[in-house]
Amino acid sequence: MSTNETHVEAAESLNVLLATQQVIKEALNRLGYGDDLYNLLSQPLRTLTVRFPVTMDDGSVKVFTGYRAQHNDAVGPTKGGIRLHPDVNEEEIQALSMWMSVKCGIADLPYGGGKGGIVCDPRDMSFAEIERLSRAYVRAISQIVGPAKDIPAPDVFSNSQNMAWMFDEYSRIRESDSPGFITGKPVVLGGSVGRERATARGVAICIDEACRVKGIQLSGARVVVQGFGNAGSYLAKYMKDAGALVVGISDAYGALYQPNGLDVDELLERRDSFGSVTKLYRDTITNKELLELPCDILVPAAIENQITTDNASNIQASIVVEAANGPTTMAATDILDRRGVLVVPDVLGNSGGVIVSYFEWVQNNQGYYWSDSEVDTNLSRVLQRSFSAVYAASQKYSVNMRLAAYIVGVQRMAEAARWRGWV
Ligand code: GLU
Repeated sequence: MSTNETHVEAAESLNVLLATQQVIKEALNRLGYGDDLYNLLSQPLRTLTVRFPVTMDDGSVKVFTGYRAQHNDAVGPTKGGIRLHPDVNEEEIQALSMWMSVKCGIADLPYGGGKGGIVCDPRDMSFAEIERLSRAYVRAISQIVGPAKDIPAPDVFSNSQNMAWMFDEYSRIRESDSPGFITGKPVVLGGSVGRERATARGVAICIDEACRVKGIQLSGARVVVQGFGNAGSYLAKYMKDAGALVVGISDAYGALYQPNGLDVDELLERRDSFGSVTKLYRDTITNKELLELPCDILVPAAIENQITTDNASNIQASIVVEAANGPTTMAATDILDRRGVLVVPDVLGNSGGVIVSYFEWVQNNQGYYWSDSEVDTNLSRVLQRSFSAVYAASQKYSVNMRLAAYIVGVQRMAEAARWRGWV
């Protein structure tokens, strides 16, 4: 392949929507489905763009833009988080809604994929401003969401407090208490125990499974975690408790490296609510250096497109488990795969979050609440089954774990659409 071609491939794969369409097409081809299904699944069925005014603390009014994309509801209502981030854009939210469909398909949840986002930087906003923003967004999208339509949840820079405000606003609009409208709520408002740490717990289960496949002992293994938000911070703690050495972590401002293992408990204590902690330390390295550190297990738990054709050959880990959505491009996955690195893709690696969201919704619908151990046992069961299904597909079709995950994930959507007579 010429340098030029390599460049074209890399540039294309950084567009998350195009990259997702390519892998969905490939998965449908392998399953023997034709263009009719690709046409149906290559874009969300609905994308709502909203603009809404929010009064800021200084009395000025700012108009924010938000989105809610619903990829496909052949299997059931759509499901997926709401991210609050300055880089949010329509194509990204659409791609993320498609990843949610695949994620729900792999875990066999009765949902299609959805995703929402608000273009904003909550790190620069007050608590009261974020409350008004969260409520205004729900008012703007209230027509298309609901417990049997589309069920939001937390995502990048949103948390149980945002969910609580959104739940309250939605219940007021409907004049009816509607806990099943949104998941990731505080436990006292109908949230599920274990939801907050669910993504990290799911990543930890996938790490166990990947270690088994690769014959690696987790105890004593060196782990690098990129990102110290909800997923990354809980994961670092799980890894430390399992006897692994967390040698590197990072946030949006820099990264820390300690070959003998970082003091995870101290870092957890010092991080702020957006997962920032490295500013408090002097000896930092860059995020780029962090990804290329000598280690056994690398967990990208930050944002998209972190492992690309530019750095895939320098990754030293033998297992990469994606806690973030979209951190590795398809081209980079191929490079890692050829080098014998086992990549557990986002749609499997971080699915613990939506799996426990499903448990939360089930509990809300029944008005009957589970114990910690019921949540953990059921999460392990679903994730172990999901991992086996994806691993088996990768063997059956001789493809990497990402394409295998899409093959497993799109199959149910395709079948449901067929049964409904849509294609
Ligand atoms: N935002 C999380 C994800 O991307 C969770 C979604 C949910 O719980 O619905 O998987």
